[in-house]
Parts: sequence; C-alpha cells; structure tokens
Amino acid sequence: MFETLTPPPADKIIELMAQFRADPREDKIDLGVGVYKDPEGRTPVMRAVRTAATRVWEAETTKAYVGLAGDAAFNAAMAKLVLGEAHDPARTASVATPGGTGAIRIAAELIRNTAPGATVWMSDPTWPNHPAILKYLDIPQTSYRYFDTTTGEVDFDAMMADLAGVQRGDVVLLHGCCHNPTGANLTADQWLAVADLLGDKGALAWIDIAYQGFGDGLEADAFGTRLLAKQLPEVLIAASCSKNFGVYRERAGVLMALSAKGTDRDVVQGNLNTLNRVNYSFPPDHGARLVSTVLDSDDLRADWAAELEDVRNSMLGLRTQLAEELRRLTNSDCYDFIARHRGMFSRLGLTPEQVATLRKEHGIYMVGDSRINIAGLNAQSVPVLARAIAALDG
Ligand code: PMP
Repeated sequence: MFETLTPPPADKIIELMAQFRADPREDKIDLGVGVYKDPEGRTPVMRAVRTAATRVWEAETTKAYVGLAGDAAFNAAMAKLVLGEAHDPARTASVATPGGTGAIRIAAELIRNTAPGATVWMSDPTWPNHPAILKYLDIPQTSYRYFDTTTGEVDFDAMMADLAGVQRGDVVLLHGCCHNPTGANLTADQWLAVADLLGDKGALAWIDIAYQGFGDGLEADAFGTRLLAKQLPEVLIAASCSKNFGVYRERAGVLMALSAKGTDRDVVQGNLNTLNRVNYSFPPDHGARLVSTVLDSDDLRADWAAELEDVRNSMLGLRTQLAEELRRLTNSDCYDFIARHRGMFSRLGLTPEQVATLRKEHGIYMVGDSRINIAGLNAQSVPVLARAIAALDG
C-alpha cells in the first residue's frame, strides 16, 4: 500500500539546515532555523528551567497520566502569564498541548467543528505551518496583506482594507507579538483598530503567541492579546513555551478558548479535552511541569524573567548593531527597520537571487524569503553580514 505514496513537498527550512551542515566553510553563518542562540551559538537550557528540572525530579513520585487537559497548575500559570489581569477563569477553557503547534492544531480542529465553512484569515506572509495545518484539515483559508517589503514595516492600510472583507463568523489569525517571518508588529493604536474591526465584523480572533518576552518585554508583548481578550466575546489563544522557556523539544504549549457570557465554559472545556483525546489522549507533561514550576515559585520566576530580559536585550543589541553597520556601509536608512523590528526574525526584503548569492559567496544561510534569525548573529558576525549585504546593493 505504501508504494502509492508520493514524496511530500520539501520543507525549505529543514532543507536549508541540511545544506548548512554540509557546507565545509568554517566561517559559515546560520541565520535559518528559528531557535534562540547565545553569542557562542548555543541554545542553552535556561537557569531556572534547569533548577526546576531538579525540583520536579526530586518531588515527582509517579509518572501516571494527569488528565486530558494536562496539569491544571500549568494551564492556570500560562493563563496568568499570557492574559495577566485580562484573565477571567469563568470564561477560559484551556488544554495543554504538544508545543504551540499542538495548540494551533487543536484550535483549527475546534474551528472546523464549531464553525464549518468559516474562512480563516492569515497575514501574508505568516508562519508556513499555519496554512499547512489549515490545508491539511480542509479549512477554507485566505490571507490579508500585512508587510510592505519596501519599507520593512506593517502595511496597515492594506491590512485593514483586506480585513474589511471579513464575514461574520470568520476567523482572523494574528501573531500576538514578534511576527514570524517579518519581525514587523502592530502598534498599540493599530491593535485597538483591529480589535474594533473584529468586534464590528463579529469575527473570531485567534492569536498565536509564540515569542512572549522576546520583543518589548513580557507584559508589553501581551498587549494585543489582552486587549482582544478584554474587548471581544470569543477569542482563541495558542501559546508556545518553546522559545521563552527554551524547552523546544519538550513540547509545551497551551490552547485557551475564551467564551462569551452565556456560553457554558464546561462544554467548551469538554470539547477541548475530547480534541486532545482523539489526537494523543494526554498531552506531554514534563515541559509543562518545568514551566509551571518556574512560574509558581518566586525565586525561579524572577531568575527566568531576568534571563529572558538578557536574551531579549542581546537580540535588540544585535539589531541596533546591524542597522548601524548597514546605515554606514550603504549610506542610507533603508535598513533602519531592522532596529525597529522585534523578536527573533526580520525579513530583509532581498530577492531570492540575492539570498542565493549570500549563501554561495559568503556562506550566509537565510530562508529564501530573506528572513534572518537575529539570534544566529553575534557581535563578530554582524559586520560580516552587513558587508555582504552592502556588496549586494553596490
Ligand atoms: N507559531 C509561530 C509563529 C512560530 O514561529 C512557532 C515556532 N516556530 C510556533 C507557533 C510553534 O512552536 P512550537 O510548536 O515549537 O512550540
């Protein structure tokens, strides 16, 4: 039977990783895959997470199943982290999931079950797994313009013009912060306008927040999510712990469904539990337990927040350095947007040919759409990248 299978479409980022590994040049630079790297190129276990692992190991007496929704302490801690004061337990149903991807998948299945035929609107561009999951589930999808490649900023007028076409009951997917792949984000005023528009349209807001704490800080990065949670009757939030806790391979994430007054929260919760059940029964627990151990103990939480701030500031430092180098070398401000972008990524606006030239001639690897992972740089490689880009322009 398997002989009928056809090869799946190639995953561009995985292919790029393989090409990078096979490149013998010692001074090659990997700006491809989306994991945080310190200046030595390592993706460290965060200090507080390491201590939490010891505490969990010492305290845990069983590995028996927890429950379909995962550990209640994790779900509650994540609701507080993401929603802050906007958290209303009476309207929040949540399940732990295998990473943010698991949360997105469960959200998509919930949408398919509860609103068959609704169209999901995504930013153009977006994280490629968004359209892939929706396509796999046969969910109608379309996109709204988001990014202006010439300015490197959000094309807000175009975004709002496209979202004017949203129909009642449609779903609008937004990146909570640190937009992947562009690095360009909505301002507070723009979030307010989007919240109003979604309210007027009667659309369901769906937020994917995978980088809280990587942009302007833990609280500031949750601004849009909290605003929509407060202002709109129904909101779906898929949150990932992979990046901000550095627990990538543990697969920790959560899906929260906020319902309107008059909706039975327990019924929503039951539906989320069932979706977990038919996908994998019980969600992974270890990463979630590390996260809740960190969030629920004052000392670990403070240490984690401090390390996350260091990570955030180091990326901001690299952004400033790269924008300044490019300003000097190109004698123009056309790359200043790199310093204004937030999160791990920036889309540089280079052509596929230019991206290929950087790879072939300089051993600099970035995704074909010219997305770079800022954390793949360090103080020494920034000038190398800047010179290579400036040489392209010249
Ligand atoms: N959403 C976005 C926008 C992402 O960039 C990612 C990670 N690349 C995820 C969700 C999911 O991450 P994970 O499943 O590893 O938690």
